[in-house]
Amino acid sequence: MIYKKPICDCGKELIYLEDRIVSTSFKINKNGKVGKRSIEVCEGEMEGHILFCDDCRETYATYYDENERIIRGDRIS
Ligand SMILES: [Zn+2]
Repeated sequence: MIYKKPICDCGKELIYLEDRIVSTSFKINKNGKVGKRSIEVCEGEMEGHILFCDDCRETYATYYDENERIIRGDRIS
């Protein structure tokens, strides 16, 4: 089977978008406020992934075919 890249309803190629939880650490200033400079950034677990259209901002679920290639799923509203 010939693989076709996932295409948006508007005709543009979709982008694979990964969601991750990112934690950033800050020092606390003498005045009790959070410091401006971050001291550490932790990239966390992957939360999920969607297919995203850079043009019309439409999003779709990510599915895989029998060869584990990315195909477009249902539209996420
Ligand atoms: Zn689109």
